[in-house]
Amino acid sequence: MSSPAAPPIPISVVRLGPEVEALVLEVVRSGTIAQGPVVRRLEEGFAEMIGARHVVAVNNGTTALVAALQVLDLRPGDEVVTSPFTFAATLNAILEAGATARFADIGADDFAIRADTIEPLVGERTAALLPVHLYGQCAPMAGIAGVAERHDLAVVEDAAQAHGAAVAGRSAGTWGTGCFSLYATKNLTSGEGGLISTDDDATADALRVLRNQGMRERYRYEVPGHNYRMTDLQAAVCVPQLAGYDAQVERRRQHARALSAGLAGIDGLRTPVELPGRRHVWHQYTVLVDDACRLGRDELVEELTRRGIGCGVYYPAVAFDHRCYLDHPRVVADEVPVARAVAARCLSLPVHAHLTGTDVERIVDAVRDAVGAGT
Ligand SMILES: *Cc1c(COP(=O)(O)O)cnc(C)c1O
Repeated sequence: MSSPAAPPIPISVVRLGPEVEALVLEVVRSGTIAQGPVVRRLEEGFAEMIGARHVVAVNNGTTALVAALQVLDLRPGDEVVTSPFTFAATLNAILEAGATARFADIGADDFAIRADTIEPLVGERTAALLPVHLYGQCAPMAGIAGVAERHDLAVVEDAAQAHGAAVAGRSAGTWGTGCFSLYATKNLTSGEGGLISTDDDATADALRVLRNQGMRERYRYEVPGHNYRMTDLQAAVCVPQLAGYDAQVERRRQHARALSAGLAGIDGLRTPVELPGRRHVWHQYTVLVDDACRLGRDELVEELTRRGIGCGVYYPAVAFDHRCYLDHPRVVADEVPVARAVAARCLSLPVHAHLTGTDVERIVDAVRDAVGAGT
């Protein structure tokens, strides 16, 4: 058992190095703090990292989703099929873009929508598929891309949690239009920020124009646009993180392996898996607490919190179950039994890059102790 005096282990930690301090200071002193050359560097660096032709930086991950949907020129009544098991931003973006949200059920191993749950929802009104690469593992994109191709649908990926993840040899964000978040607790951060990736020249161009009030040149407006711009100050926080990102992911992967080894064999506790052909970047390490476990999910959260282990429930309900969506005319409450079961059982444990080996042992010991599994 760990000493009761040991400080709590948070679910996420933001620690930025001297390279960030230096670049931020450089931007502060440059006089160009709004969108400028450092945003450009971030776009180019991230495009190279994931192997995308274009990356367009915006002010947050939700905006990335909204903009990616807006350039599809959706008509009223057009439907976007997404995951019910996601952060509210995914659904909010669909509504903001004027579309109707439909929900395909998820798989219980990767928590993502899949070809066979999407296909029955596809009809006349379907315009786009919006899979979510949850917790850092890609959705089964080969199958999803197949559905999109057969029915001529756009693909927008919610890759907010999946920087550098891959499936079938392709990075998250290169199957369709990729939407990444740079929020403070994401794997890569600028405090607030978003990145949109695309291999399509016309989409990239439309996104750049939309981002800047619909202007291509100053005061020549092509479309009614918006201000979705990121600042060089924000980009300066993120650019230096790109060089060390692979090493950071490797640490997360090591922690995930150690957690799974330590938590193996506990009745009713299902540890997460990296499925064959996928590269998981472990934004979250999420276990499922089944009925066979000695504690219920919420009791386990309480016991771990008492033992100083930060944990999170992402997400406690399916997105459209919150009151504000219940009577929404553009939210269709599809049947999603797997997502509902997972929402009642999921629990995320710390897996971030700043954990020490001792921290990982403490997490394992605390879980085993709480459920009476012995350590
Ligand atoms: C964080 C997140 C978003 C939204 O990103 P913001 O930068 O916070 O706007 C969207 N979808 C998912 C799955 C997320 O985790």
